[in-house]
Amino acid sequence: MTDKTTIEKNVVGNFITHIIDEDLASKKHSNVVTRFPPEPNGYLHIGHAKSICLNFGVAADYQGICHLRFDDTNPEKESDEYAQAIQRDIKWLGFDWGRNKFHASDYFDHLYGFAEELIEKGLAFVDDQSPEEIRENRGDFNRPGVESPYRERSVEENLTLFRGMKAGEFADGSKVLRAKIDMQSGNINMRDPVIYRIKRMHHIHTGDKWCIYPMYDFTHCISDALEGITHSLCTLEFEDHRPLYDWVLDNIDIDCHPQQIEFSRLNVSFTVTSKRRLNQLVEQNIVDGWDDPRMSTISGLRRRGYPPAAIRDFVKQVGVSKKESVISMTVLEDVIRHHLNQTSPRVMGVLDPLKVVIENYPEDQVEMLTGANHPQDESFGSREIPFSREIYIEQADYKANANRKFFRLTEGREVRLRHAYYITCREAIKDEAGNVIELRCTYDPESRGGTADGRKVKGTIHWISAAHAEPIEVRLYDRLFNHPNPASMDNFIDAVNPDSLRILPNALLEPGIAEQDADVVYQFERNAYFKRDKTHEKDKPVFNQVVTMRDSWAKVEQSAE
Ligand code: ATP
Ligand code: MG
Repeated sequence: MTDKTTIEKNVVGNFITHIIDEDLASKKHSNVVTRFPPEPNGYLHIGHAKSICLNFGVAADYQGICHLRFDDTNPEKESDEYAQAIQRDIKWLGFDWGRNKFHASDYFDHLYGFAEELIEKGLAFVDDQSPEEIRENRGDFNRPGVESPYRERSVEENLTLFRGMKAGEFADGSKVLRAKIDMQSGNINMRDPVIYRIKRMHHIHTGDKWCIYPMYDFTHCISDALEGITHSLCTLEFEDHRPLYDWVLDNIDIDCHPQQIEFSRLNVSFTVTSKRRLNQLVEQNIVDGWDDPRMSTISGLRRRGYPPAAIRDFVKQVGVSKKESVISMTVLEDVIRHHLNQTSPRVMGVLDPLKVVIENYPEDQVEMLTGANHPQDESFGSREIPFSREIYIEQADYKANANRKFFRLTEGREVRLRHAYYITCREAIKDEAGNVIELRCTYDPESRGGTADGRKVKGTIHWISAAHAEPIEVRLYDRLFNHPNPASMDNFIDAVNPDSLRILPNALLEPGIAEQDADVVYQFERNAYFKRDKTHEKDKPVFNQVVTMRDSWAKVEQSAE
């Protein structure tokens, strides 16, 4: 994945970097300017991470710049909360737009001027048809379009009407401005596309100044050109819009003409990457907000504990091409695991506690044992772990009448306690219902770090001293959907996995960890990776499971293929 022989690039060479290389070699451009253009109508998701890493990454690799531009032409769905969240997420991913933050709405005056220019050139007209008539008369793939009866209005009439639209003389939806291109075009985007509509809506930036708003296709190319963007990178669904992008810039008086280049979207199995669908999960309270740790949003992944560097690595591994594909969730989780294995300190946490009394250990004695924080990396140092007569182990580490292959505790069997002594199980105490509630064990005082007689035990289990254990709540997450491609279903909500969250209210953690920096992801040895949750409304710390130690879904996905 990493190439140590050359300076590490953000973006692995691909068809887009090849175009950039040629443009620089031919002196078509002397520098690279890209942009990331989110619409502030929701939170960013893992798909956006690809576009962010590509646009900001390419700019950095070529010592160029990348603008952040809010595509805010649709005021009814946009909000400042979303705009703030988007900025937070981009920064967290490790990118910075510096002073280059813009809004499409910064250009509303310019855009209006260019619209009048098109009218004056006979290339735009005001249409009085209803939205339904316009849609019907556009035709479709098999049916050519029908020209509007208002198409041949004079320049003067069009100018007067368009100015009237701007001045608020007409009702919402009663008129639109359309580019006059070609109703017979095989490309439906070129059939006299609407470029302005009347909409009385308060805008987060321009307030009530405008009651007409420009459409995306008209706005985007002009915004790119005004900012001097060299390469306008977008996803494949805009391929059919490129002729319109070019038509607008060819027909207005503007010098810059950026090149639109399309690449395939990032799709990840078992999740959705669409703000509209993510919004539905939030609205229907299926999740605990946009940053629920099960969400594919950047803020969800952050709360879950995915490291930003791991997300960047994942996107880099996926690469950039024009081929549509769905990346397996397992690939993403493997990258996260690989990172965390290297960066996470190890601690002992017991998710489902079972009390153990070590009968031959002195009462009231507490011993401080030393545990390495990382088995492969000494730079993580070590910590002191208290040991005493009563400890907790995992319920699953005891089994009555277990066979020889069970290397954990059963009557008469010896195991090693991680960083501590060997203990042997003598007896299981049961409650009236027959549940095992306590184990009576003995320990070998000579067995720290091995035994004098050199006897070996097969199993090592984790534990926590009862008097020192810190109560925590643990939240285990599974995939939010149990269908590999929820978006392909009639109703994706039907694919929601009802067991995607399991709460373990009685978990225990070794002391001194819960109050540490909440940004650290820990490996609870033999369990999984965990990070403390942002919320503190609980009386005890909450730890979210980031990812399991091993992939438990590989089989399911294989059978789904
Ligand atoms: P959504 O369907 O989630 O609303 P969008 O494309 O409408 O996505 P925008 O805010 O318009 O969202 O996207 C900003 C940029 O991110 C665009 O350039 C878009 O092409 C890109 N982008 C969005 N989704 C993906 C994805 N899944 N993979 C790669 N790039 C994406
Ligand atoms: Mg969009």
